[in-house]
Amino acid sequence: MMVISLCYLVAAVLFILALRGLSSPEGARRGVLMGEIGMFIAVVATLLHKDIVTYEWILAGIVVGSGIGVAISAKIPMTKMPERIALSHSFGGLATALVGVAEYLREAESLTYFKVGALGFETFLGFLTFTGSIMAFGKLQGFISGAPITWKGQNYLNITLFFGSLVAIVALVFHRELSQVFFAIAGTGLALGVMAVLPIGGADMPVVISLLNSYAGLAACATGFALGSQILIISGALDGSSGLLLSLLMSKAMNRSFANILFGAFGTALEPGAATPQLGGAAKAYNEATVEDAAAVLKASQSVIFIPGYGMAVSQAQHAVRDLAASLERRGVEVKYAIHPVAGRMPGHMNVLLAEANVSYDKLFDLDNINDDFARTDAVIVVGANDVVNPAAKKDPSSPIYGMPVFNVEQSRSVIVLKRSMNPGFSGVENELFFQPNTMMVLGDAKKTLLSMIGELKEGH
Ligand code: NAP
Repeated sequence: MMVISLCYLVAAVLFILALRGLSSPEGARRGVLMGEIGMFIAVVATLLHKDIVTYEWILAGIVVGSGIGVAISAKIPMTKMPERIALSHSFGGLATALVGVAEYLREAESLTYFKVGALGFETFLGFLTFTGSIMAFGKLQGFISGAPITWKGQNYLNITLFFGSLVAIVALVFHRELSQVFFAIAGTGLALGVMAVLPIGGADMPVVISLLNSYAGLAACATGFALGSQILIISGALDGSSGLLLSLLMSKAMNRSFANILFGAFGTALEPGAATPQLGGAAKAYNEATVEDAAAVLKASQSVIFIPGYGMAVSQAQHAVRDLAASLERRGVEVKYAIHPVAGRMPGHMNVLLAEANVSYDKLFDLDNINDDFARTDAVIVVGANDVVNPAAKKDPSSPIYGMPVFNVEQSRSVIVLKRSMNPGFSGVENELFFQPNTMMVLGDAKKTLLSMIGELKEGH
């Protein structure tokens, strides 16, 4: 028992160090490794527990679970990461909820008040996370409409069901024999997961997934109290609090209130190729440029900043970005990358993609560290970014993205935008930057355009 407690202590320290490592791109790989070692120690220590009767089922679970996990990770591309995370959370939520049901059926009569409360809470949150994550997965994957699905009185109903379930958990604590109440709590958790995610737009799903992660963590924490497992309490609390903090940070970086994301039916999914919203009446003029025009600007530049966005992920253009940067550097050009906290569709999205392409961390600059450089930069290459370079966020109080911190791209001498059309980005807002005289729109898939630009630079010397 002593050895197990010691292992749990080591695992808990490793989990905390893992979170610390994950808070910066440089430490992320080390953080993941620490988390993996911590989890391995925690699992092995748990398997040594004297209460384990037989190992066959556990072994079967490990083999099947590892097989599914490896297959999913090997197959899913980087752009589908939010979907994969949603799926993992649904498994976690379901596992927690089923443990809760099993424990209730096994020994409800002999449990303390506190443990019954923990079981009720765990089962409710576990089922809510399960169906909520399946809904999030379906919305992102396109099985369910990505648009918010709303009806009158929806928020009141959801809030009533949530608080009604909390009241039912209190009732269960004092009447643990009322299995109908227990199963009503479980059923409400399942229903609420579906109903709470329906009104949220597909593009807001990353924030919701992070929140569901927090719920899964809280459910695991409650399981720890119900089963008397310290490591579940610690890891669940860490997971719950970090998920909540991440959701808050994401909504802050998007300049959206949490309530607006959860109840505002914003984030309407825009399919590529969808018509540009009619914002200003007649179509405005913009400078459509060729790859040759863009290459000519780059040849005359001494300093270039790349701004990657969601389109770089869609086009998988990170390697081409790195190659163009290398080609420019060989010509003596100073190259930097400007990384916005909410570029892409998940926190750190651009960092991960650029790290995959071996772009050195010291060339990546966040908003505060690069925003003053634009005014003295010759050319900015916007690779599939849109909202994070929209000046309306600074200038137009009526814009839905007003207040979101954005790059001062318009201050640079030339702006080269790589995207496929004049369609808006995630927020559905027209981007004034694309119509400015110093902006060149090179329309087409970002990767193809970048590869042609590299070829053009080589040819022209
Ligand atoms: P964005 O505003 O969504 O714009 C992405 C642009 O990429 C689109 O305008 C699209 O234009 C272009 N694109 C798509 N596929 C492309 C391809 N193959 N080649 C070239 N271009 C392509 O992206 P962003 O500037 O990165 O901003 C992120 C947005 O997502 C923000 O509004 C943020 O609040 C939101 N968000 C972020 C997170 C997060 O954690 N990072 C989470 C939730 C929401 P075309 O269709 O014309 O090609």
